[in-house]
Formats: sequence, structure tokens, C-alpha cells
Amino acid sequence: MMRTHTCGELNSSHIGQKAVLCGWADSKRNHGGVLFINLRDLYGITQITVNPENPFFQTAEKIKNEFVIKAEGIVAKRPQGNENKNNPTGEVEIIPSALEIISQSSELPFDLGEHAQAGEEIRLKYRYLDIRRKNISQNLVLRGKVANIIRSYLCERQFNEIETPILTKSTPEGARDYLVPCRTNPGTFYALPQSPQVFKQILMVAGMDRYFQLARNFRDEDLRSDRQPEHTQIDMEMSFAGEKDVAEAVEGMMEKIFSFLGEKIERPFLELEYKDAMSLYGSDKPDLRYDIKFENVTSIFKNSSFKVFSDVISSNGEIRAIKAKASAQIYSRGETDKLTDILKKNGAKGLAFFKIKEGKPEGGAGKFISGEEFSALSSLLNLQEGDTVFLIADFPENLNKYAGILRNSIIEKIKPPVLKKRAFLWVRHFPLLEKDCESGNWTFTHNPFTAPLKEHLNMLDTDPGEVLSYQYDLVLNGVELGSGSVRNHDIKIQEKIFSLMGYSKEEMYFRFPMILNALKYGAPPHAGIGIGFDRLMGIICSTDSIRDVIAFPKTTSGACLMTESPSPVSEKQLKELGISVIKK
Ligand code: ASP
Repeated sequence: MMRTHTCGELNSSHIGQKAVLCGWADSKRNHGGVLFINLRDLYGITQITVNPENPFFQTAEKIKNEFVIKAEGIVAKRPQGNENKNNPTGEVEIIPSALEIISQSSELPFDLGEHAQAGEEIRLKYRYLDIRRKNISQNLVLRGKVANIIRSYLCERQFNEIETPILTKSTPEGARDYLVPCRTNPGTFYALPQSPQVFKQILMVAGMDRYFQLARNFRDEDLRSDRQPEHTQIDMEMSFAGEKDVAEAVEGMMEKIFSFLGEKIERPFLELEYKDAMSLYGSDKPDLRYDIKFENVTSIFKNSSFKVFSDVISSNGEIRAIKAKASAQIYSRGETDKLTDILKKNGAKGLAFFKIKEGKPEGGAGKFISGEEFSALSSLLNLQEGDTVFLIADFPENLNKYAGILRNSIIEKIKPPVLKKRAFLWVRHFPLLEKDCESGNWTFTHNPFTAPLKEHLNMLDTDPGEVLSYQYDLVLNGVELGSGSVRNHDIKIQEKIFSLMGYSKEEMYFRFPMILNALKYGAPPHAGIGIGFDRLMGIICSTDSIRDVIAFPKTTSGACLMTESPSPVSEKQLKELGISVIKK
């Protein structure tokens, strides 16, 4: 080994010992002629102190930031007053008896200091420099450790880690496929997997019983800040299992991960039916760290003199109310106008509100609220002086669209107390199908292999839009962390669902031959889930950007600035593939 210790290792217990350290010059200072070099590696920073009398002083003078150096010497106690309590190696320094510049560094394109503000573009272009910063390198170290915990937890529970192909056929998850042209058969293409969905189900048919993989998924969709064209998923599937078995396995895994981080999480996780999540929180991924929710107050307003409400009720609409506690001061006229505008932009006809002042509804719609309505609202919402109540009225499916926006905005504005640090939640029983706007056909809401609820099977013929499914989402602090379902192991039901989606038998066997054929040969009941590993790590590392937990991420426009991809290819390559590019 070139070194005896890392730069994060030495402390007062090593004083007097000889040490050889290697690393990068993080900084160099000259204090009264003495040179102090902070030598950095992945593990920490150790101070190298070079006096003018030192035979290596001239070498030290040549050292610049990010030079790679090797320092050999005795571990010495720092003079009193020079210790750095914030650094684990801060009590000692190395007085070098040898100092070598191993490699030099060009001038840096940006400052690597922990608090330096460098634009993301430049950081991604020089990602190898960016990763030297502790905030990124430590995320990557932690990511590796968490991956290890996941592997060992799942292996202990008889899950088999199995790799599935990257070059494959289209695997539908609702996004566009990335295609890879095939040279040996021009005009044909592989698709990169949107997830290993079909393969993991086939592995269950193959009798592999329990599968997992830290799988790479590729989805060509419009990118948002928390999306990447390729992302990693903790992908799992279990035979002879249902939704509760998957939940148990996942909750145990989360418990293990968070206990490694020193946190005890509450189990069992909360559960909500999809329809309740929508009506109580206006979201299928509500952030339940906050105790703030909608109440259906339609019946309270059945005799309302407020025309907006009575109109909505007479056309079978709904009125929902939400309380913003102690917020009368926060919601000035300007604020409520702003909020109304936001909701209108999202489809609402308006926003009614009132505040509680001297025990009465005041302002906004306050004058339309009768004494009886107010007392019913007061006891339902436990209203107190200074609270604001917002009311929205519309058809339920329209309300769902903007109720969530209203709730999030209230949370952001009034900052209610956080009930717990980690609010895990299962949202269950999503609708199986929804109408595709373009074709008018039914299409799957999550993936086409999800099983309908047993008790809804007979509605597949009569009322497909009302059929609920064994589809579940795992939510953490308002982030959709994962999605999974109990699958169709009965080929008749699977074919039926494809036919509702508008596929003829021929088409379905052309598009999904592997899974449909496999289901003919004795398929066990099975269920599974895919959990976004990047998102999970983003939450664990407390960063809003999943790019901070991925070694080589892409920008929001899908570019890798470091490798300069995507990029044009040569005419020769195109010719071999039988492809000609149409210039747009
Ligand atoms: N294949 C699904 C997804 O990638 C996860 C699953 O249902 O297991 O979202």
C-alpha cells in the first residue's frame, strides 16, 4: 500500500507514530512563513505542516490546490490553540520527513469548497471534480451502504437477485421507449426496459418464487427535476403472495434502512384507499407529516343561500372545507387573491373562504354563512379564533384536481407543526383503467398487468371505469416512492383487460407475447413493487435534487454534459444500421 492511514484517521492516539498519507491538496495557507496544507481524501482532511527549515519546503511551495501528494512523517500534537475541534483529525498534524507531488492539477473550473456556489452545468461537465466535494461523495458512499443493507435484508428473506436484460422488447409502463437499432437485422429495434416488469413476472411463472434486483429503468418522458431518463429501482416480486405480503417485506426493509441511519420508523405504515386519499387530501401522494385535511361539508350547505354552493349541490357536486389554523393574519386580501388565481389556473371556478373573528365568520364568503352552518362547521373542523376556512365546490373529479394544490399551498404558507419526520403511507386500490384522451379507449392507470379487485371482476364488462385494482403506491413525505400491484395470473382476465384497451387478440400477442404465452403454463398468484432508489436516497440525503445522489446524472433535458451525450454518430455507423436521419 502507498499509504499507512487515510486522511480521516489520525488522532491524538497516533501521536509519535510514523504515517504515510496520500490525497489531494484541499487548501494551502502561509502563516508567518509556515506552510499548512490540508490533505484531503474521501475519509477526511489532515493537516501537513511544513516549516521553512524543512528540506521539503520547496516542494511544499510548489503545491497548488488539487495536486495529488504523498506525505510521510511523524504524527505530532498541534501546538496549543491551533487545534480544530470540528475536524476529527484536528488535534494532530504531520511534520513531513518526505513530501512528493504525485500529480499536478490544472486550474480548476470552479471552486470545490463545500459552500462554494457553482452552477450545476459546470459541476456536471466536470463531474469528477464535483464528486470530490463532500456533499456528493458522501451521498455516493451512503448510497452504496444502503444498497448493501437492501441486498442483505432481501437475501435473508429468500429473495433471489436476478439480472434481467437491458436490450429487450418494449415493456409498457406508460412512457415512451428508448430504442436501440439492431445492426444485424436493419429496421428492427430493441427497446430499453421501462422496468423489468415482464421479466420478473415471468420469473415467477418460472418458479423462482422471490425475485429482486436493483434495476435500471429507462423511460423517455418529459423530464422534471426529480426524474432522470434512467433511474434505479428496488424491484421485487413474490409468488403466492398478496398486497399485505409485499407491504410486510417493504416495511421491514425500510425499518432496516432507517435503523441503520439511526431512526426508528413507525410500523405498520398508514394506509389509505385511493378514493379517500383524493377526497381527504386531493392527492394520491399526500404528505401526512401534516394533520390538515378536507372535510366533505356538502350536507351542511344543503339549504345554502350562497348561489355558488346551491348551484353546485343541485347539480350533484360537492363542497369541501379545509382549515388553516391560526392564519387570519397570514391570509391578507392579497394572499387570498393570489391563491384564488392559482386555483383558477388549475381549473377551479373560484375559492371561498372566511376567517373566525370574535366567534363569527368574517370576510370573503363569511356573509353567506348562516348561524346554523357556522356552528356545524365549527364543531366539525374544531374552529377557533383566528382560523381561516377555505371552501371549494365542484364535481368531485374536478375538486380532486385542485384540492391538492390548495392543501400544499396552505402547508407552505402556514407551516403547520410536523407530526413525524417520516410519514410513510400506502395508497391502495387505484382505478384499474382510465380513458385515454387520444384514442378514447380504456388504458391502464399504472401498468397493464395489475389485477382487478376480485369483487369487481363482474364490472369489467359492464362498468370498466369503476373497477378498482390491487394497485398500491408507497408514499413517503408526499413523495411517491414506489408503485406495485397484485398481478393477473389468470390469462383470461389479462386478455380481457388488453381487449378493453382496444387490442385484438392478434395485437396483444404481437405486443406482449412473452407474458401472455408464459401465463398459459401454470402461473402462480404473484405480486410485487418497484421502489425508486434514487428518490429514496434523495430523501435520506436530504436533497431536493436526485442528481445529488447519482454519480453521473443527466440534466433535465436528458443530456450528460460530461460525456457530451447524446451526440451525432458517423455516417458509417448509420449506414450499418440502415438508418438515415431526417433533419428537422
Ligand atoms: N413495474 C412497476 C414500475 O416500474 C413496479 C411494479 O409494479 O412492480 O413502476
